[in-house]
Amino acid sequence: MYRARVVKVDPLRPSDKAIEEAAGILRSGGLVAFPTETVYGLGADAFNSEAVLKVFKVKRRPLDNPLIVHVSSLDMLYQVAADISEQVVRALAIAWPGPLTVVLKRRAEVPAVVSGGLDTIAARCPAHPVALKLIEALGRPIAAPSANLAGRPSPTRAEHVIEDLGDGVDLIIDAEETFFGVESTVVDLVSPIPQILRPGPIGPEELEKVFGFRFSLTPYARGFSMYTGTPPSPGMKYRHYAPNKKLVLVEKGLCDTSTYLDFLINTLKTYSKELLALLATRETIEEVSRRLGTSIMYLTLGPRENLFEIARNLYSSLRNLDKLDSVSIAFSEGVEERGVGLAIMNRLRKASSERIVCEVG
Ligand code: AMP
Ligand code: MG
Repeated sequence: MYRARVVKVDPLRPSDKAIEEAAGILRSGGLVAFPTETVYGLGADAFNSEAVLKVFKVKRRPLDNPLIVHVSSLDMLYQVAADISEQVVRALAIAWPGPLTVVLKRRAEVPAVVSGGLDTIAARCPAHPVALKLIEALGRPIAAPSANLAGRPSPTRAEHVIEDLGDGVDLIIDAEETFFGVESTVVDLVSPIPQILRPGPIGPEELEKVFGFRFSLTPYARGFSMYTGTPPSPGMKYRHYAPNKKLVLVEKGLCDTSTYLDFLINTLKTYSKELLALLATRETIEEVSRRLGTSIMYLTLGPRENLFEIARNLYSSLRNLDKLDSVSIAFSEGVEERGVGLAIMNRLRKASSERIVCEVG
């Protein structure tokens, strides 16, 4: 069976040889999966529409769900975007390289297929040595969505890419685990009201500091109900990040921790423990296992106070769920919606098949 070639590199000091090989593949219209600081991306030369079409095909991504274009500098942004204001340039000089994607007006030279036919373009400059060196070696922007099958959790390790796309990629650059574990924050800068289209590692407070104005955050961006009409971002229409198993998200609502734990434990009690998995913070697992025993499969997301660690573990935990054959239903704890917690809750709401909210009293 054909398998993609996998080349291992040091995440911080990738070898020139590996980067050159990858750039050569992109130059000749091939696909390369590579790490960014958020998740692994599936890259194609952004100006080669045939290669970009292959990305959609391999991922089984709907053609109307646009890709993010990755640049290695602010200068390169001008190859893909037009009408960039001074204010945006100043903000990007601070925020880039980093996990922030901006939606701007698309230059006509960029193949429309990259943007799913929209006249806008999403772009970012990734803060990962492998991604940056690869873009520099190619000398052109790389169009890259997350390197997973559409609808599945995004890959935070090369093994996840092999699992989902092994046969469809020409080369996978394996640089261990990605740093943030959730996808970039996406903001819309072309609509009259600047808005967060997808929460990510850069939270609303940081955005306001960097841009000097506030971004609106709709319920859709928080992961509530999918759009049915024309959404501000095509990705909002689709279910995402979902494991194959039934996943119930138990949200905290307005409950304090002890009320929430009672609520969660009472919910779990109504099921046969041997069939259950619980995705939760370390503290919650300690308490639940003390009260309900160890026959539940526990998957630890990280310490309650460290939202960045929870974000980093989220997708591999969702993937691990699918490997637990004896489990038929999984529950997940909700986290606080602050900073990167907004991104975690957006992903969990979209990944879950059911949602229940803790009620006071
Ligand atoms: P992914 O590439 O898998 O990280 O997903 C990229 C996200 O950015 C999707 O939710 C897209 O819908 C969104 N996106 C990309 N380009 C645009 C655009 N031009 N306008 C609005 N949203 C976009
Ligand atoms: Mg994706």
